Amino acid sequence: MEEINSAIVLAAGRGRRMQSDIPKQYMVLCGKPVIYYSLKVFEDFEPVREVILVAGKEDLDYCRKEIVDRYHFTKVGKIIAGGKERYHSVYEGLREVSPDSSYVFIHDGARPCVDRSVLERCMQDVRKYQACVCGMPSKDTVRIADREGFAQATPDRTSVWMMQTPQVFSYTLILKAYEKMLAGCTDGITDDAMAVERTMGRRIKLTEGSWRNIKITTPEDLELAALFVRNA
Ligand code: C5P
Repeated sequence: MEEINSAIVLAAGRGRRMQSDIPKQYMVLCGKPVIYYSLKVFEDFEPVREVILVAGKEDLDYCRKEIVDRYHFTKVGKIIAGGKERYHSVYEGLREVSPDSSYVFIHDGARPCVDRSVLERCMQDVRKYQACVCGMPSKDTVRIADREGFAQATPDRTSVWMMQTPQVFSYTLILKAYEKMLAGCTDGITDDAMAVERTMGRRIKLTEGSWRNIKITTPEDLELAALFVRNA
């Protein structure tokens, strides 16, 4: 039987650090909304058969007309409302994934410069390890601060990775992890890998992402992304 894989693309955040009235995922990047770019990469990636777009309740119509219809994203079968925190939005997405899906890519719509080679590496690793997250080894030394803002610990740089998305999991594994997490403790959980580690005690493979796969967070990220889009 042919493998079915799904992608959840998250666009339900408000992005307060961007200091803009328009959420960052809808800001214009080289003539198109930021969210267009990652949807396009999934649209062109054959192993993913369905895409679930998670947006703010008030943006569902806009997403349907101005993004999915306008750019003919045929794989975006569902556009659904997200929740208060990122993990609520992920869970809403997980509930809409086809039950016969093998693997689920969870991707931040605010990362427009993800590319096909990143998805290919994820696909390879998730088939082998059932859980993998993209990231890159830190270029900078990382210091852990104490409560007064003084340097406390310095982890060995070679073991520090900066996390990106996609984060990709076996569908049954990630669904169970989220159900367990939401029934218990959600404190300090900032990404999907943490949910799987904490609730399922599973090891997560770190998959090589890309230096271009930045998350749009502050205004200068948009300038950098424009450079990457133009040179893609
Ligand atoms: O805020 P942050 O940059 O960490 O958000 C990462 C991604 O998660 C963004 O694509 C954002 O739209 C999404 N998100 C969401 N629902 C939330 C919060 C964030 O879909 N409640």
